[in-house]
Amino acid sequence: MIGWSDPRTTIVAIASATSPALRGAVRMAGEDAIDVLQRMVADPIPPVTRPSRVPIRLCLPDPLGTLDAVALVWPTSRSYCGCPSVEIHTVGALPILEATVNAATAAGARPAGPGEFTLRAFLAGRLDLTQAEAVLGVIDATNRSQLDAALTQLAGNLSAPLREARDQLLDMLADLEAGLDFVEEDISFIDDQTLRAGLLRIAERVAATSRQMQAQRRSESFHWVVLRGRPNAGKSSLLNSLADESVAIVSDEAGTTRDVVWREIDIHGRHVRIADTAGIETGHDPVTAKSQQAAATIEQVAAIVLQCHDARQLPASLAELESTSTPVIRVATKGDTIDEPHAVELAQQGWLVTSAVQRSGLDRLRSEISRRLDQVPGASDLGVPGTAARCADAIDRAATSLRQAVDLLDLLAGHELIAVEMRQALAAIGEVTGEIYTDDILDRVFSRFCIGK
Ligand code: GDP
Repeated sequence: MIGWSDPRTTIVAIASATSPALRGAVRMAGEDAIDVLQRMVADPIPPVTRPSRVPIRLCLPDPLGTLDAVALVWPTSRSYCGCPSVEIHTVGALPILEATVNAATAAGARPAGPGEFTLRAFLAGRLDLTQAEAVLGVIDATNRSQLDAALTQLAGNLSAPLREARDQLLDMLADLEAGLDFVEEDISFIDDQTLRAGLLRIAERVAATSRQMQAQRRSESFHWVVLRGRPNAGKSSLLNSLADESVAIVSDEAGTTRDVVWREIDIHGRHVRIADTAGIETGHDPVTAKSQQAAATIEQVAAIVLQCHDARQLPASLAELESTSTPVIRVATKGDTIDEPHAVELAQQGWLVTSAVQRSGLDRLRSEISRRLDQVPGASDLGVPGTAARCADAIDRAATSLRQAVDLLDLLAGHELIAVEMRQALAAIGEVTGEIYTDDILDRVFSRFCIGK
C-alpha cells in the first residue's frame, strides 16, 4: 500500500533524474510546504501570494554549509498537486539533492511515496486516472510513438469522450428514475425511443474505447481482418485469393475450416493478418462450439470483419446480417455466378462483389480494407499500456450492461431493471476515468510510479 496521506502533510522527494546533471530539483507539496522551506534557508523568504521564483540560501548539513539556489513557489491550492508546493532548483549532484531532502525532512516534511505527487493531483481533481497513468507513460516512453500516445492520453483524449458518455448516461438515468416516482400516474420524462437511441450512442462510444484498448494490448504492428460467414460462403477461397497462395483448405463440404487460419499480407503498405474462421453455424458438438469460440475471440480483436455471403444467396434484408460492434465490409462472393446487371445492382446496395475464380473485385476489396484501416485509431490514439491493462475489464462490463439495458428495453422490461444496468455501466465507466476508485485501484496505479513523480 502506498503511504498516502493527508494532503496537509508536506511530502518531499528528488524530482529530477538521479543521474549526474548540471541542475537538479527537489519537490515539496503540502499545506505547510512554505513553512518547511522557511526552516531550510538562511534568510527569511518574503511573503508570497502568487507563483514566484525566489532566490534562496539553502542551509545544508556540514560539510556542505549554505548554498545559493532558487525556489519556485506555488503558495495556494492552484498548483499541480492542489496544495501549496515548492520546487528547489540547485546543483544536480546527488549528494546535494539528498542533503536537501534530508534538510526538508528535518524541517518537518515526510519523504514522498511512489507517485504521491501525481496521486495528490488526482485526488485534487487536477487529473483523472487515465491522465495520471499517462504521466507514467510519458516517463516510461522509450520511443516517439509511445511518447505521442502518452501525451495524447495526458491531454484527455481517452477520458474526455468517456466522461461525456458518462454525463449523458447520468442525465438519462435521472430522467428514467424521475419517471419511476410517477409510474402510477403514467408520467415519464424520457420516452423509450429516445432512451434507446441514447443508449446505443453511448454503447458505440464505449465499444470504440474498447477497440482502442484492445489495439493497445496487442500493440499494433499489424491489424486483424477477419472473414466471417456461413459455411461454404467462399471465405477460404477469398483468403487464398487475397494471400495469393493456398493457405486455407477449400472444399465443397460445409464446415471444413474448424480452426482460425491466418496469413499476414501487405495491403497498401500495411501489415494485415487476414483470418479465416469457422463458418457461422449453430451445432452443439464440442468441436463446433470450440471453433465458434475461436472465431468469436479473433473477431473481438479484429479491426475489420469481412462478412461474406454467396452472391446467389444474399439475405433479403440487411437486418438479417450478423450484428457486430467491429466495422464490417459486406462481401458478395462468387461474383462469377451472377450476371453483370445483378453484380452492378449489388454494388449499388453496398456489397463488394468478388470472385475467387475470376480473381475479380480483389483490388477493390484491398482498397476498401485500406480505407477502413485509415479510420482505425492510430498509434498515438492508443493510450498507454497500463491503462489498457487496468481498464479492459471495466470497459467490457460497461459494454455488457449497456447492451443488456437495450435488450431489456426491447423486451419491454420494467424501467427499474434498465436503471440497474445503466447504473452498472456508469460505475464501470467511472472506474476507467477514476470518478469511482478504491484504495486497491489507486495502489495499483500509483505504486508503478517512481518516487518524486
Ligand atoms: P468457406 O467454407 O466459406 O471457406 O468456403 P470455400 O472457400 O471452402 O468455398 C466453398 C465452395 O465454393 C467451394 O466449392 C469453392 O470452390 C466454391 N467457391 C469459392 N469461391 C468461389 C468463387 O469465387 N466462384 C465460384 N464459382 N465458386 C467459388
